[in-house]
Amino acid sequence: MATRDPLDFDVGVEEDEDGAPSPSSPLSYFERDRHVAFFGMLYDLMPYHYQSQEINRLTLAFFTISGLHLLKALDRVDKDRVASWVLSFRAHPINQAELKNGQFYGFHGSRMSQFPPDENGVSVCNAGHLASTYCALAILKTVGFNILTIDKESILISMRNLQQPDGSFMPVHLGAETDLRFVYCAAAICFMLEDWSGMDREKTKDYILNCQSYDGGFGLMPGLESHGGGTYCAVASLRLMGYIEDDLLSKNATSSIINVPLLLDWCMQRQAIDGGFQGRANKSSDTCYAFWVGAVLRILGGYKFIDKIALRGFLLTCQSEFGGFSKYPRELPDLYHSYYGCTAFSLLEEPGLNPLCAELGMTDLAALGIL
Ligand SMILES: [Zn+2]
Repeated sequence: MATRDPLDFDVGVEEDEDGAPSPSSPLSYFERDRHVAFFGMLYDLMPYHYQSQEINRLTLAFFTISGLHLLKALDRVDKDRVASWVLSFRAHPINQAELKNGQFYGFHGSRMSQFPPDENGVSVCNAGHLASTYCALAILKTVGFNILTIDKESILISMRNLQQPDGSFMPVHLGAETDLRFVYCAAAICFMLEDWSGMDREKTKDYILNCQSYDGGFGLMPGLESHGGGTYCAVASLRLMGYIEDDLLSKNATSSIINVPLLLDWCMQRQAIDGGFQGRANKSSDTCYAFWVGAVLRILGGYKFIDKIALRGFLLTCQSEFGGFSKYPRELPDLYHSYYGCTAFSLLEEPGLNPLCAELGMTDLAALGIL
């Protein structure tokens, strides 16, 4: 029998509209076993609906494998095979001089971007992506691979090519958006590799501080509306970089480099009347913001102030009878919201889940390298 790569895609079948599953009434407690079955199914064979996200395959793999670890079901994973599969996505420079050519020698998101060198031996678009590199390192840590044994120099030296004069980061050398998402990836990569030579920390810090809005939250770029994801990227980055302490609220928050009282106020106002968290003012509650905003509150030491019973109730309405979580109540689940649903329940200290490292978005055990 031919062996498949981890997380290979299903080829797909025609769906009969009448036969499509429909979500039913919410379940009344956290259905760990169903979630293990859900993530386990995705690990065995990714449904064809995800084919359009092939370029982000390492991201899909991170959600799946870290999800199983959160659920204490990492035994579903062939750790050695996953590690060698992830390492096969590494972008390698041909020589040291290439590290200055502007490209980023991190990890590719998938096979699709691993172009071979042309007839003159010149690599074309053969470079990594910051988000894929964060996911690759996070998966490797989750399966117990010692990432300090890889050639980190070429990752870190070439990562400086991506930092912009204002301190932000491009995700890939070809350009694209520069905002807090990629600042966070860069900070997490440096933190995991235990080496900050990949960035100008002062410039990065200044960029982050410029993103704090008048209402206390952070926009993805300076001047933009406060947003749950941007706020997480800002606060988690500052924590990883050592610019803010853990449990800031129990210390002298007024001397912090960010406006902590306003930030706390903004985060607390994101818990809506239905118990869930919204990403921005006047938006609907969405499963993933229970992590993005909840993790910020955890880092600040303000998680104790939320209405946990109401949040749990909202999340249960997004839990699928097939396992996994949906974005909104009573819809079908997707991998992204399933992962963040589980992280949200871990923040709520649900039994049967491993504790979460809020600033790295993975289990504490993986973050600490204890497997
Ligand atoms: Zn969402």
